[in-house]
Amino acid sequence: MDELVALAKRRGFIFQSSDIYGGLQGVYDYGPLGVELKNNLKAAWWRAMVYERDDVEGLDAAILTNPLTLRYSGHEATFTDPLVDCRQCKSRWRADHLEKPQCPSCGSTDLTDPRPFNLMFKTQVGPVEDSANFAYLRPETAQAIFTNFKNVADSTSPKLPFGIAQIGKAFRNEITPRNFIFRVREFEQMELEFFVEPGEDETWHDTWVAERLKWWGEQGVNENNLELYHVPADELAHYSKATVDVMYRFPHGLEELEGIANRTDFDLGSHTKNQADLNISARVEPNADSNARLALQNTESKEWRVPYVIEPSAGVDRGVLAVMNEAYNVETLENGSERTVMSFKPHLSPIKVAVLPLKRNHEGIVDKARGIKQDLQKLGLGRILYEDTGNIGKGYRRHDEVGTPLCVTVDFQTIEEDDTVTVRDRDSMDQTRIAVADLADYVKEQIAG
Ligand code: ATP
Repeated sequence: MDELVALAKRRGFIFQSSDIYGGLQGVYDYGPLGVELKNNLKAAWWRAMVYERDDVEGLDAAILTNPLTLRYSGHEATFTDPLVDCRQCKSRWRADHLEKPQCPSCGSTDLTDPRPFNLMFKTQVGPVEDSANFAYLRPETAQAIFTNFKNVADSTSPKLPFGIAQIGKAFRNEITPRNFIFRVREFEQMELEFFVEPGEDETWHDTWVAERLKWWGEQGVNENNLELYHVPADELAHYSKATVDVMYRFPHGLEELEGIANRTDFDLGSHTKNQADLNISARVEPNADSNARLALQNTESKEWRVPYVIEPSAGVDRGVLAVMNEAYNVETLENGSERTVMSFKPHLSPIKVAVLPLKRNHEGIVDKARGIKQDLQKLGLGRILYEDTGNIGKGYRRHDEVGTPLCVTVDFQTIEEDDTVTVRDRDSMDQTRIAVADLADYVKEQIAG
């Protein structure tokens, strides 16, 4: 983990937030390469969950959330972790994360009894500071999918099964943020709420577990580093009938990367008015505040029913950490030297191609290299970088370290002889001469697959 954190900072992937003021605990910023990697991971998820299916629509809802949403969702009452205080050194801990009843900081066993601590952040809304004018920062993106269920259903007329997908920020006031970007207070989630006929929920749950494992594999996560954890009944969240966690072997241990829950009709049922005639199976509080019926009407029988929902919910930041951990390799070369290489899948690489002029002061070479960069950029594959540091060997090493799959070098032969460039492959380190006329096709094939 220390090596990854150091590389992340040195190469501009991830920084401690507000670093120059000593940081803000559990909050990180993504730098020039981090933002590309993160966007690429999110784009890969969106492609698989929305574009490659015809039964899922997207959504981008607000972060500030009406407290009623989080009251009826059950978060106000139950979204808590057990907090203990050390009476000796005053530090605070999550009781369920302590191996024994002892303060990890000072070793004292003089701890308070655990008490529930609500993880939601509150913020004032509008200029009047009173207890009625507040909103929550959403603790999961899911709730806005449920509260928009009718809006989306009315505007797209879907048939079951269908899903609504969303990627966005979520906030949790974690008692002990730790392990770099693994447990943070501000993070992003990629969530799908997939609505199904009651009775078909268990089959769909299995389907989504398999789909999600396959997807993580496509992001370069080795299946040997993934494990499924079937959450036992006494550990299930209040809304869940069954949850399967996708666990990943992070540098600090085996922990949750994604949770796939069967949320039944709990959420749609909870946010619905006039629930009595709807046959809701989950135990829901009567709701007099909602003005919506989050249910679908069968066109033939005219019967209303609340769909069940299967939720694959993945953390973007945990995904970035997993993908970086998988990609990170230190190799010993034949000549005995070492190289650090981030073997990202090309679709995730922050920079797809670096275009390097052999001589940075040679007008002909520089113009040619800049032209190649512009042409490759137009392919829409992601970031193509023109970089004229002049030292090609060092350029290759630097791009190995940030995972750039291809480096293109423009030299005298390019401009004076045959209009070919050297293309150097990150993984094999092979260098091949390719005609500039064939370069776009070659790059497309290597990067887009
Ligand atoms: P944990 O048990 O690790 O606290 P959780 O079960 O509370 O996680 P969920 O509510 O299932 O997490 O959230 C879905 C996903 O959101 C998680 O699988 C994880 O990838 C991500 N996530 C949740 N909390 C955090 C956090 N504090 N920092 C980063 N990612 C998080």
